[in-house]
Amino acid sequence: MKKTETALQMREHELLGIIETIPAMLWSTSPAGEPTHLSQRFLEYRGTSFEEFVNRGWEGLHPDDREESAKAFFRAIETGESYNVIHRYRRADGEYRWHHSMGEPLRDPHGKIIQWYGLSIDIDERKRAENHLRDTRNKLSTASKIATVAELSASIAHELNQPLMAVLGNAQAAKRWLAANPPDLIETNASIGRILRDLRLADETMQRIRALFRSGPYKKRDESVLDIIRESIRFVHEDPKKRQVQVDWSIESSLPPIWVDRIQIQQLFINLVSNAIEATDGSANAARILLKSFVTQEHEVVVQVIDNGTGLQDTEKIFDAFVTTKEKGMGIGLAVSRSIVEAHGGRLWAENNPDGGATFNVALPVSSKREVH
Ligand code: ADP
Repeated sequence: MKKTETALQMREHELLGIIETIPAMLWSTSPAGEPTHLSQRFLEYRGTSFEEFVNRGWEGLHPDDREESAKAFFRAIETGESYNVIHRYRRADGEYRWHHSMGEPLRDPHGKIIQWYGLSIDIDERKRAENHLRDTRNKLSTASKIATVAELSASIAHELNQPLMAVLGNAQAAKRWLAANPPDLIETNASIGRILRDLRLADETMQRIRALFRSGPYKKRDESVLDIIRESIRFVHEDPKKRQVQVDWSIESSLPPIWVDRIQIQQLFINLVSNAIEATDGSANAARILLKSFVTQEHEVVVQVIDNGTGLQDTEKIFDAFVTTKEKGMGIGLAVSRSIVEAHGGRLWAENNPDGGATFNVALPVSSKREVH
């Protein structure tokens, strides 16, 4: 008996050694969640006695984490599922450090919980590194936004520079024609005519850029797809160079309304239809643009802008900012179009047609206020 007792004491000593040496704080509780044992590390970290911990254990948690941790703990006790939380725990010196706490129940052969065992690991260093990484990422994305703005400004400056330089040249010419002896009024008049034309061009460019970046909150309302499309096409046709191309539409009459900001969605279709017309430019075939619309089973209205133009080399890259194949293009139309659609909870994607040309698909959720038939 004496030998067995010594052996048992040795075992107990060994086990205690393991518990106290493991670099984590160990605990156990009764099936009801009352603490039955806390490792020495735990008590030292908290700077409390076991009795004090039993009475005021939750107070060691950061006030912001207390409620959630307690809920998770008592849910585990109630359901018998593992306990697994990350929270801040106050050290004896008052510093809060991040801990990962886990607990598992020990069951008897009948599945009844006899005891809960758990541990809490200090993950403060890792958590700090994660936070640092997140901050760095945020800073990087701000930096990349600034770079984008810089790139954008350069491309706007480039677009505006052209008409402005032409204005300058013609203004100087007009001045020279007037200073001639006798003044050449016919040439002066022609120069002023060109100045006006180029200034109008610059103004149009500005308007276009403004429309693209019209900021402020979206003003969403129930809108008719057909009305929006009709008006967008009319707008595109105001451009004399685009008027020649016929744009047809085939829109289901039963289409439900969509919940959108009319101006933004019009801008989107103006972009898509303008691109479609430009893609058919210089093609040997007669240009054909068709807008089709239908409702899907997912309660989305899909509008397709189909052209028989050049088609697309890459159906995804074109949505990146500053990707353009046009001499005077800015390459932001599709990038902005996609962000408009996504801000409306929809999707915008492009495909090549089997018989040539491209199709741009706009999927927008139907107004949730209405039933879909
Ligand atoms: P931009 O029109 O200023 O070039 P976008 O972002 O609107 O800018 O378009 C990016 C590029 O995508 C275009 O330069 C063109 O190469 C391609 N693209 C857009 N729409 C079509 C289309 N319907 N057919 C063929 N290519 C297209």
